[in-house]
Amino acid sequence: MSTGLMPDTGSLWMPFTANRQFKAAPRLLVSASGMYYMSHDGRRILDGTAGLWCVNAGHCRPEIAQAIARQSRELDYAPGFQMGHPLAFEAASRVAQLMPAGLDRIFFTNSGSESVDTALKIALSYHRARGQSQRIRFIGRERGYHGVGFGGISVGGIAANRKPFTANLMPGVDHLPHTLNIAEAAFSRGQPAWGAHLADELERLVTLHDASTIAGVIVEPLAGSAGVLVPPRGYLERLHAICAHHGLLLIFDEVISGFGRLGSATASEYFGLTPDIITLAKGINNAAVPLGAVAVKRVIYDSVVGAADPGSIELFHGYTYSAHPLAVAATVAALDIYAREGLFERARSLSSKFEDCAHALRGAAHVRDIRNLGLVAGIELEPRPGAPGSRAYEVFLACLQRGVLVRYTGDTLAFSPPLIVEPAQIEQIFGTVAEALRTIG
Ligand code: PLP
Repeated sequence: MSTGLMPDTGSLWMPFTANRQFKAAPRLLVSASGMYYMSHDGRRILDGTAGLWCVNAGHCRPEIAQAIARQSRELDYAPGFQMGHPLAFEAASRVAQLMPAGLDRIFFTNSGSESVDTALKIALSYHRARGQSQRIRFIGRERGYHGVGFGGISVGGIAANRKPFTANLMPGVDHLPHTLNIAEAAFSRGQPAWGAHLADELERLVTLHDASTIAGVIVEPLAGSAGVLVPPRGYLERLHAICAHHGLLLIFDEVISGFGRLGSATASEYFGLTPDIITLAKGINNAAVPLGAVAVKRVIYDSVVGAADPGSIELFHGYTYSAHPLAVAATVAALDIYAREGLFERARSLSSKFEDCAHALRGAAHVRDIRNLGLVAGIELEPRPGAPGSRAYEVFLACLQRGVLVRYTGDTLAFSPPLIVEPAQIEQIFGTVAEALRTIG
């Protein structure tokens, strides 16, 4: 445990944080192991959020740390343009093995945001390669979160993330309605029965813009960051069918749902659907080193690669750190852990306990909805009049004080513990929230 003096917090411009509020009373994490963080003031904090939905195998796993250390001594960096290194190829094969059949071509990025922008470029390149360069539009969804690049905020649908940049967003983007309807589906356990018909809005947009101008549709199969939005039963299946019918590429953003969160390698597998492209990051290497990836159907790769002159670069895109040796070393080690410990199956077997504990808060003060799927849950609170978000923030602080880290977005509390979570820890997480809610006005 390393605790110490509070650092000078002045220089750091913190991401997605109320900087002034935070710096007035900083909350620092200084070490971690398994299910726990250690705070700057020496308190053990149960991680109810797997960091930011990413540390799926729990913290500081020695096998991953050793793989990174070994790699940093052996080959710290190798250029990924016009050169390769063995682990890049091995990691790609390993990731491909976990994807739905046919999505076996993997492009590495450094983050979910980069994966999304890469996926959009690949979709455009695919259509162009097939002589359909007029397919330039994308359809996203309200409340969708696809990271913070200009591509991602354009197809994304979180108003606050878009508002300062509305004049600069990508052209040619339209949005489906989101699927959350508390009046119709409050306190649904798992997938709501109401809402599949909302997928038919895609037919309306296709009629409006004409299929021949649309490159693809991007959605999170399970939306996490916008407050845990669980897809209604039958909704994704309809989206999939409409995309297939009109030749639109379906992109599932699985940055959160990939690598076990729903109890399968991917949400695509969980729902029994095969999209055309899947974006990944976070759990891809237990978040030990920044890494993202895009998995594409082989036909997409073959089309783009085959359309270029032999000897010429087929896709003018890539990052200095694509398949960084340390990041992919961590991937191979993390995927080994997931497989050896059966963590995806573990998530599946814990999901009904998780659901029961989350829904036990029905009737607690201020709770207006509870939503869940796999090892994800959201508890939406009634916002305070004139002070939206303040109630969830206070619950977050009260839980932290009691030794449990939860997450909040707006007035929704979100839960996504590492997949190694024990049943007693699930009880502790939701029990702590119940206590915290009793202290909040
Ligand atoms: N896509 C989804 C679905 C996400 O949940 C996130 C992050 O939470 C991103 C993209 C962006 O990932 P990153 O923060 O690694 O850029």
